[in-house]
Amino acid sequence: MNTARRIMTIDGIEIDVVRKAVRRISLRVYPGGEVRLTVPWLMPLSRAEAFVSEKADWLRKTYQRLREEQPRTLPPVSKEQRQELILYINERVPFWLAKMQEQPIQIRLRNMKSQWGNCRPLTRTVTFNLQLAHQPLPFREYIIVHELCHLSVPNHSPAFHALVTRYLPDWKERKRMQIK
Ligand SMILES: [Zn+2]
Repeated sequence: MNTARRIMTIDGIEIDVVRKAVRRISLRVYPGGEVRLTVPWLMPLSRAEAFVSEKADWLRKTYQRLREEQPRTLPPVSKEQRQELILYINERVPFWLAKMQEQPIQIRLRNMKSQWGNCRPLTRTVTFNLQLAHQPLPFREYIIVHELCHLSVPNHSPAFHALVTRYLPDWKERKRMQIK
């Protein structure tokens, strides 16, 4: 699926804006504090922003309520599993940054319900889903390379996939190794 992403911020709440082939605009807050706005392809951004403004009160309340909640359907990650994931990320991220000749980044780790990671090229912040602790190493590495490639190509265009392929020619295979 082809999607285009951007970030909108309201009252300090970061909203992941995703354009998709949908009929209606929708705003969702997930346990853990992930906020996603899904916008139909042809809707002007100004209309999407107006929609969010109308919902600002609801968004603030819902975000505060859900932010501290653990995503319900996600399996728990033990202290040891978390530590093991951190070690892995702290080893692989510098390796790939050096290979890509990229400057250092900020790394964050948290439970996310709808994505394995996300990348904010402007603040050079990459967030990884804590649930990667339950995934095999080849898949984890694919997610790392995927997110780091967003530092230079912030979308899922053919150019982006060509870049991922350059670094990880077997990424499709790795992607299929995801445990569901
Ligand atoms: Zn991506």
